Formats: sequence, structure tokens, C-alpha cells
Amino acid sequence: MKIGIIGGGALGLAAAYQLGKDGHQAAVFERAAVLGGQASTFDVGGGRLERGYHHLFKSDTHMVDLIHELGLGPKLAWIESKVGFFYGGKIHQFTTPLDLLRFTPLSPYNRVKLGLMTLRLQRTKYWPRELERVTAEEWIRTHAGKQIFDVIWNPMLRGKFGESASQVSMAWLWGKIYLRTTSRDKGLRSRERLGYPLGSFAEIFEALEREIRAMGGEVHYPSTVHRVTVRDGRATGLDVQYPGGGRESRDFDVVLSTTPSSIFPRLVPELPESYTRLLAPQYQAAVLIIMELDRPFSWAYWMNIADRSIPFVGLIEHTNFVDKERYGGKHLVYLSNYLSRASEMYSMPPDELWRRYVPALKKINPAFDESWVTNRHYHREDAAQPIIGVDYSQRIPPLQTPLKDLWLANTTQIYPEDRGTNYSVRLGRLVAKMITGQAPVCMWWE
Ligand SMILES: Cc1cc2nc3c(=O)[nH]c(=O)nc-3n(C[C@H](O)[C@H](O)[C@H](O)COP(=O)(O)OP(=O)(O)OC[C@H]3O[C@@H](n4cnc5c(N)ncnc54)[C@H](O)[C@@H]3O)c2cc1C
Repeated sequence: MKIGIIGGGALGLAAAYQLGKDGHQAAVFERAAVLGGQASTFDVGGGRLERGYHHLFKSDTHMVDLIHELGLGPKLAWIESKVGFFYGGKIHQFTTPLDLLRFTPLSPYNRVKLGLMTLRLQRTKYWPRELERVTAEEWIRTHAGKQIFDVIWNPMLRGKFGESASQVSMAWLWGKIYLRTTSRDKGLRSRERLGYPLGSFAEIFEALEREIRAMGGEVHYPSTVHRVTVRDGRATGLDVQYPGGGRESRDFDVVLSTTPSSIFPRLVPELPESYTRLLAPQYQAAVLIIMELDRPFSWAYWMNIADRSIPFVGLIEHTNFVDKERYGGKHLVYLSNYLSRASEMYSMPPDELWRRYVPALKKINPAFDESWVTNRHYHREDAAQPIIGVDYSQRIPPLQTPLKDLWLANTTQIYPEDRGTNYSVRLGRLVAKMITGQAPVCMWWE
């Protein structure tokens, strides 16, 4: 079978790899000049760095298995992470369960209560359906109370989902808490270990590319798909544009799109309204500034910013996780934001955004001076975070579209877990098996 795949991110490449392994010919078309989509990298100080911070959790078994399968096991490092929580003008350490017991913004009673709530969700082995019928806000207010909601969860939900925060379902938050805590050993002083492929996630995408080609598949980039060709209600191929303006029409037995749902209907105007209704825009965008510094900014790898007067929601100091010597001795810090496309900061020019961020950086670290910044970068990802509302399982677009031989697989169909490279790999390999009839066509929880 010949399969045309739109998108060379984790999902498209994992699908092409699986199809190759099962004896089929896959051709991947990626519009960017690099593979990896949201997990793609750029060059810094002789090393490669993800455009948006990336790491793996212990629960990311599909990605970990793939890394080993590709022979990259020796490159996968499990590194202790240091977590901070900026609240009330202070960075609180939040690395071990003991740190929670010392977290003074919560009353002693609520510290214990938050610990028990986390434990309860961690022990909820598979997501109970009732969690998707209630918003995270309602659930936390009922089960944990106002202070825990106001101090911990409300700033986090607002930071990630903005004005849509109050719609987010508890199933999403369960996924976050349940999966996150599996990266931690047991005990009050236990630290979290996070995975990172040394050399960056690009190592994985390059290995996939090599394997796909070796099995007779094709990987084209940059090459943009303009149109899925449809004849008599059936997808028959792709119209592709290469750099320099060259265009080509390719015939395929099956087409798999891994593009965000917001792009897909433009490529296939023939899709019926009953399906495109499920694809209506439902993402938060990620906006990232990456600072190259001549010295460390803080001690934390991951710093949640729970102070809404700060105009970003996360400060991720990559070189407190991976050795700076891999990047020519530069200290690398992401300033991360999730924004709706309608928000002012989404369309703000990078220099203006930076000017807004500088006073906030001084608030977090009063010693900070702009002269520490030797360079900075700006990246934006429109379809960064699907907004998962209540009863989401009822609104997920089916993988098999109403048009024959046309499939869609993307991050909006990852559920109840939060999106991540691990789940794109899982979905990519699974949809490959569905396309070739080796797996039943259904969602994995059905
Ligand atoms: C800021 C940020 C931080 C993250 N952190 C983590 C993390 O720590 N760990 C983790 O595991 N995951 C993380 N993720 C999530 C992870 O990166 C994504 O879930 C995953 O990479 C999605 O892969 P995908 O292939 O499903 O989609 P994408 O990566 O979006 O791939 C889709 C591809 O389709 C291409 N495309 C679109 N239209 C066309 C067209 N017309 N023609 C050709 N190509 C087209 C796009 O260019 C893109 O490459 C993070 C994401 C963001 C934004």
C-alpha cells in the first residue's frame, strides 16, 4: 500500500516508520525546513535545542521504547529535575514532597490536603469517566477548597488556557497529575527524574528519517501540501509544492494528515460539515522567548510562575537540566506563554514582548540585568495546546474521516492524557496499524 503522510512531526514520522516496518511505502511531506514539528530544534552554541522546552516522563513508555528500538538508548539520560514555584515575590522550592510540607503560602492543613489530593489522583489508575463531566475548577474547589485552587491551580490553569481555563475538564488535570507523579520515586525526599535524548529530540527524528528511507519510504522537507486530491468521495493523492515553486501531484492509496485540525479543512474542502464542525479552532498558541545568558538565572530547571502580574507562565532553565557545555557554555532559559490567538501578546512583535518581560525577570531575580543576555530567540507555535473541555470524548474527530481512504491523526485526538511526543508516537503507530487493517478502528479507550 502507498500512503501519503502530511506532516513530519513525531506523529507523521512514527506512522511512516510503522508502515515501513509492516511492509508498506510511506511518503512524508513536511512544510518546515526541519523535521520534528513542535519538538523541532534550532542551533545554539554548536548544539541543538528544541524551539519549545522538551523532556520525557517515566510514563512516556511509547517514546522510550521507540528510542531504544532506534538504537538511541545510550543517548537517553534520566536527569534529576529541580522545580521552583514563584509565588508572593519568592521562588519556593517544589522538588520533593517534603517541599510541599514547607510551602508557606498554603496553610499547614492545606499542604497536607494538597498532598493527599495528589496521592488520590495518582492512585486513580485509569481515568474514571466522571472526571470528564466536571471542570477542573469545580472539582478542585469541591475536593481541595478555595485556597488550594487560588494559590496553586487557578494560576496554572489560567496560564495554560487563558480565558478558556474555566472550561477545562478534570480529566485533563488528572492526566497531568497522574502521569507527572510517575516520574518520581517514592518517599518524602524523592526527586523527579526526567528523560532527555542527549543531542536533542532531533536525534530521534533523524533516526526515524533514516529508517523510513532504508525501508523504501520517502521523507520530503521543506515541501508543503496544498491540497488533498479527492475523486468520487475518495482521497486519491496530494498536491505538493516544493521550495522554488515546483509543484507535483502524487497518487496514493491512502492519505494520512497529521496537521492541526485548524489547517486540515483547508486542504480538503470536500469534507462534510458534520466532520469539520469537530475541527473548529480549539487550541492555545505557545509563544516562547529563549534567552542565551552569560550566567545562570536561577537554580531551578522548571519554574511555575503563579503570580499573574508576571506576563509569562513558565521559566524553564534548560541548562539547569542539560549541561551547558553542550551549547558552548551558554545558559539557556525559556520564557514560556500559552495564549489565545486573539490576545494582545500573541501578535506583539518580539522586541516589544521582550520589553514587557524584562521588569518581570527583575521581579523574579532582582540581580538580573539585561547585560547578562548575549542573544535571544523567539518562537511561536499556533496549535500548541488543544483545549480539553468537559465531555471531550464525545467531540473528538474520528481518525477515519467521512471521505474514503482519508485519515486524520493529531494532538486533539490524544485523550485523556495531555498531548506530548509520547502520545503522538503511540497514535502514529496505532493509526498506521488501523490504516492497514491490523488494528480495529476505534479510540484506544473504547
Ligand atoms: C512549548 C511546547 C512544549 C512542549 N513540551 C513537551 C515536552 O516536554 N515533552 C513532550 O513529550 N511533548 C512536549 N510538547 C508537545 C509535543 O511537542 C507535541 O505534542 C508533539 O510534538 C506533536 O507532534 P505531532 O506530530 O502530533 O504534531 P506537530 O509536531 O504539530 O506536527 C505536525 C506537522 O505538520 C506540518 N504541516 C502542517 N501543515 C502542513 C502542510 N500543509 N504540508 C506539510 N506539512 C504540514 C507541520 O509543520 C508540523 O511539522 C510541547 C509542545 C510545545 C508547543
